[in-house]
Amino acid sequence: MLENFTLITGPCAAESMEQVLQTAQNLKQLLTQPFIFRAGVWKPRTRPSSFQGMGAPALSWLQQVKRDFSVPIAIEVGLPEHVELALKNDIDYVWLGARTTTSPFLMDALAASLRSTHLKVIIKNPINPEWQLWAGAVERLMAAQIKDITLVHRGFSVYHESNYRYVPFWEIPLKMKQEFGLPMLCDPGHISRSKDQVTALSVLALRCGFNGLMIESHYQPNKALSDATMQFTPAHLFETLKQISQEYNLAANGVVEMDITPEHHRYSSLQNIQHELASELRKLQYSTHNDQHHHNYLQ
Ligand code: PEP
Ligand code: MN
Repeated sequence: MLENFTLITGPCAAESMEQVLQTAQNLKQLLTQPFIFRAGVWKPRTRPSSFQGMGAPALSWLQQVKRDFSVPIAIEVGLPEHVELALKNDIDYVWLGARTTTSPFLMDALAASLRSTHLKVIIKNPINPEWQLWAGAVERLMAAQIKDITLVHRGFSVYHESNYRYVPFWEIPLKMKQEFGLPMLCDPGHISRSKDQVTALSVLALRCGFNGLMIESHYQPNKALSDATMQFTPAHLFETLKQISQEYNLAANGVVEMDITPEHHRYSSLQNIQHELASELRKLQYSTHNDQHHHNYLQ
């Protein structure tokens, strides 16, 4: 069991009352640690012909999950109207997705609608590898006096061939952690090309000082209306978390040393982190060639 570790899990999208209740029940029965139950209500899809979520009616299903299983609920919000509905439906956490974080206008509008609410905010990295865009989104939330902010690293879109679905560019989340000192979770399912990569990526993230994971789960993933290949059954998630915990605890020196104190020269500490990461990645047999060497995404 991992200590001080935040887990966010639940389906990509809320599809029916039965699906959210069954998934939450199985998670509650199997997992040995507390979790925040996630489900997308409005899905920002690349093509409008894809499943776009069940919309507002799904909010009452999630309230039922909260009542029956005493779990906090997280949904994605992309518009101020979504925030209003989250407030009316007793939602605990809202997350801002990768496509939302890229838009300064949307971030201004969402920060204004979140000001003076009790909602806790989870903010994913922007889809493109620009740390400043992520930083700007966080600054907008902070300027709106939002106190409870968690960052989620879900990888970045690139146009070159890669072993990853979304390339991690670990230096970007590490830079964000260093700049803001906020909790950082990893969403290894978006980074991975297959579920087989999730354990190694999670162990790496935790060894780099990440504070937890967001992993999608569904009681019948093969019937899911979105991200069917990425979602874990609750039983598979339980096994995967056990394996992550074992591998993390076995890892020789525990968490990779990171000096994030302000007096430490930023750039040299980042170089140290990148050096440590490169050796961690080599141990995990990930190719660092295309994804790490030729770019500096911290400009
Ligand atoms: C999600 O978590 O379901 C999602 C849409 O994520 P992202 O914004 O990272 O693509
Ligand atoms: Mn998804």
